[in-house]
Amino acid sequence: MRESIYIKYLKRIQGVSKDVLKGIGDDAAVIRGPKGLCVLTTDTLLEGTHFRLKDTGPRALGKKAITTSLSDIAAMGCRATIALISIAFPRSTPMRFARQLTRGLNDTAAKYGVTVVGGDTVTGRGPLLINVTILGNADGLRPVLRSGARPGDAIMVTGELGGTILGKHLRFEPRLKEAVYLNKNFGLHSMIDISDGLSLDMGHILEESGVGAVLYEEQIPISKAAYTLARRTGKNPLHHALTDGEDYELLFTLSKSHAERLVKKNPLKVPVTRIGHIRLDKGRGLFLKDKAGKLRRIRPEGYEHL
Ligand SMILES: [Mg+2]
Repeated sequence: MRESIYIKYLKRIQGVSKDVLKGIGDDAAVIRGPKGLCVLTTDTLLEGTHFRLKDTGPRALGKKAITTSLSDIAAMGCRATIALISIAFPRSTPMRFARQLTRGLNDTAAKYGVTVVGGDTVTGRGPLLINVTILGNADGLRPVLRSGARPGDAIMVTGELGGTILGKHLRFEPRLKEAVYLNKNFGLHSMIDISDGLSLDMGHILEESGVGAVLYEEQIPISKAAYTLARRTGKNPLHHALTDGEDYELLFTLSKSHAERLVKKNPLKVPVTRIGHIRLDKGRGLFLKDKAGKLRRIRPEGYEHL
């Protein structure tokens, strides 16, 4: 079974409710709570698929398991509030491991102001599985969807991209504060967190918004790790910045005037870079513009040398 086909099936059969403003297809669902809009997301890490225990200690694993969900709340421009955590432990798991995993989960929740209110624990013969569900509050703001990008929007990104496999994939910070601040002060049109890689996640915004985009090759912030990794892989650093996953930086679009204001006086602790624009014409697809101004199409799933 392919995940993407199953998700299409789920989208097709999902129900409609007046309490649901956005269902499947964004970083989080948007629902009507008793005190305004909420966002709700869930993420599962499975041993053997998302991590190997010989590479990742239990504390770091706990941190990662909850931070991916926190990052999805950030991608909506909302404040994370409540978490449910469910874990399926292999029967042979030592108690010490379970305690350290839980410390990683709960300490990270506390760091970002999230209260863990429950979940479920099972033991069995399968691999280790960790599921984290997080509720966020819009606090009167509008949750930022993937589908709101408009022609002429500037495309911006926080931080630096690529080479995350060298360490950042376990150490990344969810951009929660930054996201809420941007949502409040810069009228964001669309946003996503970069989990699958810049080009693929840009593709998600383009698909949901029904627009195309041009990225400026020279403006893409390439991390030091991407350069280091490129020396090992023989690929170029830009390739890593465009296609490596698990950066968990924010990728967002906003009006040109808001983008100019943000670049001029960035009040955030992380760098923000303007890396492209949403096309003015009706053309779809993702393009990369080089130094000489030449455009070439890139596939959302990766970088294509023409
Ligand atoms: Mg996401």
